[in-house]
Amino acid sequence: MRTPAKIIIVLLVVSAAVAAVALKKNKATPNSESVSAAAGASQSASAPSTSVKIPKLIDLGADKCIPCKAMAPILENLKKEYAGKLNVEFIDVWKNPAAGEQYKIEMIPTQIFFDANGKELFRHVGFFGKEDILGKWKELGVDVGSEKPGIVREEPVKADTRPRDQVCFMCDQDVQQKTKTVVKGQNEQRVLCGPHCYFVSFSSIVGADPKTEEAKVSVTDWASGNLVPATTTTFLYGMDTKGRPTIKAFADKEAATKEQQSNPGSLVAWDVLRSKELATRCAFCDRAVYPEDACGVKFGTTHGHGCCTHCSMGVAARLKQDIEVEAKDGLTGESIRIKTLDGQIASLEPATATAWFGQKKGPDGKWVSAGCFKQGFFLNEANLQKWLDARPSMTGRQITIAQALADKMKLTPEQIAKACKLGECK
Ligand SMILES: [Zn+2]
Ligand SMILES: [Zn+2]
Repeated sequence: MRTPAKIIIVLLVVSAAVAAVALKKNKATPNSESVSAAAGASQSASAPSTSVKIPKLIDLGADKCIPCKAMAPILENLKKEYAGKLNVEFIDVWKNPAAGEQYKIEMIPTQIFFDANGKELFRHVGFFGKEDILGKWKELGVDVGSEKPGIVREEPVKADTRPRDQVCFMCDQDVQQKTKTVVKGQNEQRVLCGPHCYFVSFSSIVGADPKTEEAKVSVTDWASGNLVPATTTTFLYGMDTKGRPTIKAFADKEAATKEQQSNPGSLVAWDVLRSKELATRCAFCDRAVYPEDACGVKFGTTHGHGCCTHCSMGVAARLKQDIEVEAKDGLTGESIRIKTLDGQIASLEPATATAWFGQKKGPDGKWVSAGCFKQGFFLNEANLQKWLDARPSMTGRQITIAQALADKMKLTPEQIAKACKLGECK
């Protein structure tokens, strides 16, 4: 008995050293041999009986294996949140090989799902996120009790009665007369709150030619209040107290110089403004974004931006890479930190953080995303509720941050290429 036990430990040590890599490969192309081996083993293993008959999740791992470590907070969270409804057990197969032996696992971490009678229903190898674990229980038809349903708002509390020409087509903010920007199409004209929203809109058009597009743009002359062609205008490019750019347009350069004396900034031509505005892009959807408005996204050693909270999750899907996100609470601006592992949430700070999925009903009656400007993450549900109270015309629903990530992870490369593009974002 002693010798085989030793062999198992050595094998585990060797495989665990490369667990993260090997498991990723397994996901892409499931190894049929290991699948059938696991299926064979599943018939012999059974959960030790417990006094109260409830479903059980056993995670077999080790405290020094990287994906196992990522499992630890998830198991802790499940243990607390589903106490009395789900038994959650962790077995360290390095420290306690005898306890793990009966389950005949080949890789760590392995999670085994047992029904209330101790019958094995399913096993999973590798990191398994909370949402996926809960989804699996649901799929297996086992009720472990569900989290309380979140906020749903299908009808506006108060309809948005603002006249269309006073609402920015991109960001939905009120249009200030002094910065109003108009894009004239063949049949329609779009009103925007300022040049920045023009560049957001421009960067959302697939294959757009800058010269063709900007010939349609008029901006408001700060001095006279008249609409003037954007490309021949001088811009006073300043900065607000948050470091966010401010843009004032002047038909007459002298008027711009005069304004510059009381409100400092640089006087720039349209071409310079364009290169500044298009310099920072969303790492998911390529939209122009100001870093002050964006989520910070770190992938590898690179720091990038997500133009909205949901786009920041999409970076993991687009790059097929683990990411670290620093989002700001939509209400208070406080920090929310998220780390992903294999396309799932590995850590969330604070654990109470939640997401709002802004949606609107399309012409066909189907609910679709209301766009990047209607999304947000919040420290907790109370903050989300306050934010919604201030936005009575907003519709959508509360989702978990894990769901926001999962929604992006299931997108195909073609869908990602169309993400947030005007007229193509579904
Ligand atoms: Zn706008
Ligand atoms: Zn984006």
